[in-house]
This record gives sequence, C-alpha cells and structure tokens, in this order.
Amino acid sequence: MSANPERLAHWLFDSFEVSPRPPIDLETLAVRMGIDQVLDTDMVEDGRLVQSSDRAVVHLRLNLHPRRRRFTLAHELAHRILTHPEAPAVSYRRAGNGDDEERLCDQIAASILMPQDWTRRFATRPQNLSTLRLMSERAQVSLSAALVRSREINNWRKSLLRFSLDQGRWRFQGAFGVPIEWHRRIRSAPATHDAINSVPIRRDWDCQLPLRAAESEISVTAQIDRWKNTTVALVELDERLAHRKPDG
Ligand SMILES: [Zn+2]
Repeated sequence: MSANPERLAHWLFDSFEVSPRPPIDLETLAVRMGIDQVLDTDMVEDGRLVQSSDRAVVHLRLNLHPRRRRFTLAHELAHRILTHPEAPAVSYRRAGNGDDEERLCDQIAASILMPQDWTRRFATRPQNLSTLRLMSERAQVSLSAALVRSREINNWRKSLLRFSLDQGRWRFQGAFGVPIEWHRRIRSAPATHDAINSVPIRRDWDCQLPLRAAESEISVTAQIDRWKNTTVALVELDERLAHRKPDG
C-alpha cells in the first residue's frame, strides 16, 4: 500500500478542521463528516456503517473497550471517506470478500489516530513497552495498535503477544505485528506457561519466552508485563523467523 492513507488522514484534518494532534477528537470528526449518530448496539461484529441517501449511522458493539471502540469508530469513518466524492483517490483492489477494503480501513484508522508526523517523534525512543504505553496513552489507542503503527512508521521489528489466565493456565490470546506469512502460526509452547508464571507482577521483565512457531519450538527475547490475569509480551520474532518458513 502506498502513502495514500496518510494523505487521506491529512485531507480529513484539513477539510473538517480537526486538530491532527492526538488524542484525535473522533466525535467531532464524525459529526463534521456527516455522521448523524454513533450508536452502541448489541451486535456480533465490532462496528458497522449504515448509510442511506439522507442518513449515516455508525453502530458500535456494546461494551467494547474504550480504546478498541475508538479504533473501530475510526475504521467506520474510513469506510465513509472512501465514498466521499472529494476525498483523494485511494487505490485498492475491490476483492469479492472485501478483505482489501477492510485492511485499508484499518490503515486509514491508524493514520487518523496516530498521524505519521506525530508517530515519527517516537522513533528515537527505545523500542520497549514503556514507549508503547506512552503512545497508547497519548493517542488513546490500544498497545497493539501502537505496536502495529510503530512497525509501519518507525521500523520496529518487534511483535506483541497477549495471554490471559484461564483456569490456572496462561493461554495465548493473539499476536500483533507478526510477519504476514506467520499469522495464526504463533502459539504457546508447553513451557510458555511456566515462563510467564515465573515473571514478577507489574514490572517490565526481560527474559526468554518459549513459543511454538508452526511445528517448531523456539525461544525469543521478550519484555513481559504480567498482571493478575493478563500478560503482554513484546517479543523479537522477526529475527527468529527470518530463515524459517511456516510450512518448512
Ligand atoms: Zn470494515
């Protein structure tokens, strides 16, 4: 994808006179973009944009975490802007399943919530959890969104893994900023639970974390923040996976 999402975000800030300084005022942006209502609704998906000739409503899933809700709202605004007659053109393949448009709207959402120039100011900071926390606090986005954006703009090469405690075991919940061919191929290894359990609570702890990458067990350099029932790990997966193939 080109720099188009960045241009589109700038165009939005200029056209609708919203400050490009995070945290971005999404509610004002939505109103000025002609969204009549933002409704928190009981539904399965995170968000949906319903447009008719005279009315536009964004539906957001009830009880979304506030930062996830913000990202979802920005994503739905991105759908709206793609149909705006004066917006700068953005090229993407209109695939039958809409995946390309979904990815593009995620990119535009990130460009709105964490504008490129603003994000670059974090480039000189250490690539660690405290930098991600600072970004996520200031932009009011999730740690995962801050990580994905740092990879995109500031050439970070790290990934963020989430675990939660379920019936006494640390279970893998998801990975963010993982090389695309490894999506859904990263999981817990048998030894992951003990490694997380041995980490002190609420300190950014440097250690080695065992994981499964496809069929292999690997050990990666990690910085771990363990809470009572949830854990995030900032891990150096790219290097470890560079010479591997998911199916090899
Ligand atoms: Zn969408």
